Amino acid sequence: MMTKTLPGQPAGNGQGRIDARNLTVQYPSPHGPVKAVDSFNLMVEPGEFVCLLGPSGCGKSTILNVIAGFLRASSGSVQLDGEPIVGAGQERGVVFQRYVLFPWLNVLQNVEYGLKVRGVDKKTRQEKAREYLQLVGLAGFERKYPKQLSGGMQQRVGIARVLVNQPKVMLMDEPFGALDSQTRYMMQELTLQVSRKDGTTILFVTHDLDEALLLGDRICVITAYPGRVKEIITNPIAGPRTPDIVSRPEFVDTRRRIYEMLRDEIRLSFDQEAQKLGVQKMAG
Ligand code: ADP
Repeated sequence: MMTKTLPGQPAGNGQGRIDARNLTVQYPSPHGPVKAVDSFNLMVEPGEFVCLLGPSGCGKSTILNVIAGFLRASSGSVQLDGEPIVGAGQERGVVFQRYVLFPWLNVLQNVEYGLKVRGVDKKTRQEKAREYLQLVGLAGFERKYPKQLSGGMQQRVGIARVLVNQPKVMLMDEPFGALDSQTRYMMQELTLQVSRKDGTTILFVTHDLDEALLLGDRICVITAYPGRVKEIITNPIAGPRTPDIVSRPEFVDTRRRIYEMLRDEIRLSFDQEAQKLGVQKMAG
């Protein structure tokens, strides 16, 4: 049974092992069900950082949504610490590309919201919320309202709002895609820091090869639609990784290998798009 969270305790009390077996997801369409994910298999160990990398539309978000408990698998299974996932849970924090904050709550109230729901006393939850706002570089913004902040700042509040619950598992769907490059570096560093400090299991969706190689202990390359595992690559540079790894020969080699894999899948997905639209491909 999933462990119940008591007030003040971190949301994640289990180990944070994700086990997806033969996960298949179909969406309804006017022509009958269409497979978006096909027999996807992945085991993420507690505390591991795994990136899902693949062409746009290959099923990455669909996989993440099943693990988050927002979407049901059509067949196969997904377990968290040996228990089937049947819905959303506090031990899994989810960060999307654009985080929707409560517009009627200020920044501090937004961040402390999850702790309040769990019955944490006001003093403790405000202290924690301030600590995590500081971590994302937003100390001093406590009394501002979301509409007063830039999109990037709102996303940082959204991330603080998830981190403050100390979930055992973080499911992140292109969380930094809309951020400017400097904020993105800062948030990537922060995510690595959190995963090490709290031993959080992180499953991170990206289509950015360099981001995957900086963050992931392993990189799961997904095929063009419908998504299956093409290959799982162990990062040749064991943590801690910093942006200067780009010059290391083992990084360059692995990057090239993954790039080639990805390029094949991206070409395939372009062909699929063309087919869908009834466009004849030119020779060559
Ligand atoms: P990715 O995250 O890799 O871009 P998605 O998981 O969003 O891919 O989508 C995978 C495939 O499933 C795409 O072809 C997409 O069009 C389709 N899809 C996603 N959501 C739905 C939906 N709600 N209904 C029908 N098809 C969907």
